[in-house]
Amino acid sequence: MDEVVAGIDIGGTKIAIAIETLAGERIAARRLPTQVKIGAYAIIENVLQSITEILEDKQVKLAAIGIGCPSPLDIEKGLVISPSNLQNWDNFPIVKLFKKRFNVPIVLENDANTATLGEYNYGAGRGFKNIVYITVSTGVGGGIIINGEIVHGVGWGAGELGHTIVQPDGVRCNCGSIGCLETICAGVHIARRAKMRLAGGEPSLMNELVLNINEVTAKTVVEAVRKKDQLASEIWTETCRFLAIGIANIITLIAPEAIIIGGGVASAGELLFAPLRSFLPQFVSMIPLEKVAVLPAELGGESGVCGALALAKQVYLESYQVYEV
Ligand code: ADP
Ligand code: ZN
Repeated sequence: MDEVVAGIDIGGTKIAIAIETLAGERIAARRLPTQVKIGAYAIIENVLQSITEILEDKQVKLAAIGIGCPSPLDIEKGLVISPSNLQNWDNFPIVKLFKKRFNVPIVLENDANTATLGEYNYGAGRGFKNIVYITVSTGVGGGIIINGEIVHGVGWGAGELGHTIVQPDGVRCNCGSIGCLETICAGVHIARRAKMRLAGGEPSLMNELVLNINEVTAKTVVEAVRKKDQLASEIWTETCRFLAIGIANIITLIAPEAIIIGGGVASAGELLFAPLRSFLPQFVSMIPLEKVAVLPAELGGESGVCGALALAKQVYLESYQVYEV
């Protein structure tokens, strides 16, 4: 019976499951909605059931599992603590539930780090050893890989680029700090500034793109920028400038070979990358920027589940070594 690994990416709206052989052949992929109302135990039971069905259907044997999940997590104890987008997942023993059902090596990692590992192993980060991944989506998250390893740091908290301070006299962030990168560049905060200025009566095409000001999203802002709207362009330029400051700081600290940017807001494409690349030289003085590739992520919504697969393979190989030596 062929041995396979499972990668699971748990999100606030959907859960992605992928099964691959150890040689890297994808034999199954499933997406389940995160039915928040049924609760954490029932949600995970559905995931366990799906994996069991795939294993029976394909007649393969599970060798290891990688799980990506929104933080905060207690990675050592295998617990989900209380993520803001997974209500009532307080001290939820996710690893124990998987272990009880499958009894194979299991690794839990935060979802930004699994996305980073996904891009590193399967996406825009292939071929590099040191990368920083940034997701600019509803929030701003990130992960750092140095010499092929995720940097965890004390409390497993490293890599939270969204919560580095870029505007100390700015807006309070969900995390409690003031002026985090997230409070300017996250989709919700791009939309917040647009709504505020529209409510103040400033003229803009954005009024015509939505029925009600409250429906404005980061995507609306980008649509209006493409139509040369002045207000949207001001908000967007500010977003790109602060993103450049956040990225410049991390480049100066780490000097990575590549910065990879994903997430819904990054699907603006060159509209984001062109200003970003032109702002960066203003804010980086100590590192040869021409040696730092600034690249779009390649895997879209798949990066997390791909990283979970990579982790599963890694934990399988490590446990194999432990048993054999
Ligand atoms: P999540 O945060 O749930 O992972 P996404 O990565 O899709 O979801 O990010 C959602 C954010 O991306 C929203 O703020 C949305 O307005 C924004 N967005 C989606 N498409 C685009 C686009 N083409 N250009 C700019 N922003 C976009
Ligand atoms: Zn913050």
